Amino acid sequence: MKGVVVKSTGSWYLVRDKDGKLHRARLRGKFKLKGMKVSNPLAVGDRVEFDVEETGEDTAVIHKIEDRENYIIRQSTHKTAFSHIIAANLDQALLIVTLVSPRTSFGFIDRFLVTAEAYDIPTVLVYNKTDMYDEEMQEYQRQISHMYEAIGYSSLAVSAKNGEGIDAIKQLIQGKTTLFSGHSGVGKSSLINLLVPDLDLKTSEISDFSDKGVHTTTFAEMFEVDEQTFIIDTPGIKELGIVDIPKNELSHFFPEMRERLNQCRFNNCTHFNEPGCAVVEAVRHNNISLTRYESYLSMLHGEDNRK
Ligand code: GDP
Ligand code: ZN
Repeated sequence: MKGVVVKSTGSWYLVRDKDGKLHRARLRGKFKLKGMKVSNPLAVGDRVEFDVEETGEDTAVIHKIEDRENYIIRQSTHKTAFSHIIAANLDQALLIVTLVSPRTSFGFIDRFLVTAEAYDIPTVLVYNKTDMYDEEMQEYQRQISHMYEAIGYSSLAVSAKNGEGIDAIKQLIQGKTTLFSGHSGVGKSSLINLLVPDLDLKTSEISDFSDKGVHTTTFAEMFEVDEQTFIIDTPGIKELGIVDIPKNELSHFFPEMRERLNQCRFNNCTHFNEPGCAVVEAVRHNNISLTRYESYLSMLHGEDNRK
């Protein structure tokens, strides 16, 4: 039988078959990913073939993992250690952000977008909590959205509280498998609860930061919106891990820089202090946003592009 992994604990898996029936499953045999040390052979979203054993009560055995269209990993902070595959076969990601309580930084947004570019996962920015924006903030949100739209990332303004934009999210995710990401407190759980029938994800109170950061290992989970529509949640994981990007390739993951690369004087330009740089020129003329360029520089010079 064929199915999709909807939950993984590391030692056993939950597999959804074509008819929507769930099977508890184990993995048989050894599976390796070429060129990478991973701690888990199988992740949420993986398409697998499995057999249901005659004797077991609802135990299935997975014997084949289909090739992945894409996958996201979390890299261990120890360089030598293994990476953890978080999820596979994603059609798109929604990055949930807010302008208030807690405000999402451009640095965070841009790091996420770079990672998503590297993984080849189309991303839409979702501004939640619009019920809390005053007019000035609404205008600011439109400006930011406009800036991101100009470089290819569309945006939605929504409120899990008053329902604004929820239908637009429903349309956007229809028929797809979508990763929901975001800093804790932005309302990701509240939004998922509105979209998935019969679900009651625990939502956190915003003031309750006491146990943040001491997350035990958490695993991604896939929720069914309808038979064709799935949401992948990654509790406790706010950023995507990324394989090292060489400094002179970082700009390949900024669409507005990528399109100008062949106009720089040097083909290994890092767009920092080289003469004849088309990217710096575009920043000067406001054709590339300053905040995006600042994010680029902080990734170029900082440690963040390793996480
Ligand atoms: P998560 O950590 O991203 O999963 O966020 P939660 O869904 O747990 O929400 C965090 C807090 O923000 C909770 O107190 C929610 O009630 C609140 N919240 C979520 N969405 C909205 C919204 O659209 N408007 C307002 N005013 N509060 C919201
Ligand atoms: Zn340059």
